[in-house]
Amino acid sequence: MPNSSLTKASLSAAVAALLFPVAAQAQGDAGRERFRATYKELVETDTTLSNGDCTLASNRMKARLVAAGYPDSQFRVVVPSEFPKFGNLVGEIPGSDPKAPAILLVAHIDVVEAKREDWERDPFKLVEENGYFFARGAIDDKSMAAIFVDSLIRYREEKFKPRRTIKIALTCGEETDHVFDGVEYLLATEPQTLKAGFAINEGGKGWLDDRGAPRTFGVQAGEKIYQDFTLSTTGPGGHSARPHTDNPITRLSEALARTGNYRFPAMPGEAVRNFFTRSAPLYPGEQGDAMRIVGAGKDDPAALDLLSNSDPVWNAMIRTTCTNTQVTGGHAPNAVPQRAQATVNCRILPGTSVDTIHKALVEVVADPRIDVALTDEPGPVSPPPPLTPEIMKPIEKLVAEMWPGVPVIPNLSTGATDGRFLMAAGIPTYGVSAIFVDPDGNGVHGLNERVRVKSLYDARQFLHRLVKIYASAK
Ligand SMILES: [Zn+2]
Repeated sequence: MPNSSLTKASLSAAVAALLFPVAAQAQGDAGRERFRATYKELVETDTTLSNGDCTLASNRMKARLVAAGYPDSQFRVVVPSEFPKFGNLVGEIPGSDPKAPAILLVAHIDVVEAKREDWERDPFKLVEENGYFFARGAIDDKSMAAIFVDSLIRYREEKFKPRRTIKIALTCGEETDHVFDGVEYLLATEPQTLKAGFAINEGGKGWLDDRGAPRTFGVQAGEKIYQDFTLSTTGPGGHSARPHTDNPITRLSEALARTGNYRFPAMPGEAVRNFFTRSAPLYPGEQGDAMRIVGAGKDDPAALDLLSNSDPVWNAMIRTTCTNTQVTGGHAPNAVPQRAQATVNCRILPGTSVDTIHKALVEVVADPRIDVALTDEPGPVSPPPPLTPEIMKPIEKLVAEMWPGVPVIPNLSTGATDGRFLMAAGIPTYGVSAIFVDPDGNGVHGLNERVRVKSLYDARQFLHRLVKIYASAK
């Protein structure tokens, strides 16, 4: 019965047409459940400083790689003898071209403290609710760590033979680097392990608008340097009923008014100019105009001022900033003080030396009786990584495919990640998480940290493909 068989044929065609995209998608997402299990295991392994154990988390991630068929010897958990719970997982897939520089995938597996009584849900249980995963580390940075482990498992399944060596480093202590930092430790004790042509790290993210649509895709290219300065001054003191003019609190207050009101010169770098050029279309009017001017490399004072005054983040990207953060002084309510002290916290543009800022602060303070000293040892000075086509083109290609029309926007981070150690060690480091977050930042470092389930799964696909492109590149 030709008619009915035709109907049958067209029906199966229709069914196939309906099913095929689903099947193709399912194929592209093979192992999503396995990824979810990896991610769940990682976020449910507490890695806070107070209660956690990165060594356990590293061993668990290694076990997954070994279960996927990698030789046990290919991955190591590096446990520093003095810090038994700060274990770091390192290893690599060797590339076919020994001369091609390696690619380093770095993610920290420690997390910021999270108190059960403060959170709505258990921070160390993966809870899926209303299209979100909730957990401490849901984004920062166990998302990338789980994606990297999952990608390595997929590469093995796919029998992918990279041209460039792919290195992985899941490290501990990024959030508590005053105690121990895994990247710093590995660079000091076995620098060859992390040596790479460039690194992919946390820091860059996508932003959703308030309706949940992707708005921009960020690539972090450099970060500012953190440095505290201590201002201190002393005087002879005395009875406050017979005050004299040599008063340390008064003197320090006058100096703090100067440091507080001082604006360091605008010195937007390559990533920041790029940020403004690519952000300009999102800001019609005078802000967009100013962005285009600064983006084009012109240091127009009016444009720079307009941007600085519009948004503290833009201001912080344009210049080194210092702000008064702490002050102490005096020993009794009824005495002329003998001592006053303040902390000035600076965030220094990459490439500017701590010494330059120290000298500038001494000039701004402009009082030889006030001592201006570094509060602690300066961190590494790290030049920002270059935005080469080798790095940017594959990102732009994949973004255009997965989120058509969403601009790729490099940025300078005003905070700090382990990238500062890597960049100081000569490894250009780019923040590319590919995770789109809500305008409120999704509770990273705060309460009820969360990530959209779709954002996480999309980032998994993005990074899996991106690393493959980088690793195959000539
Ligand atoms: Zn982080």
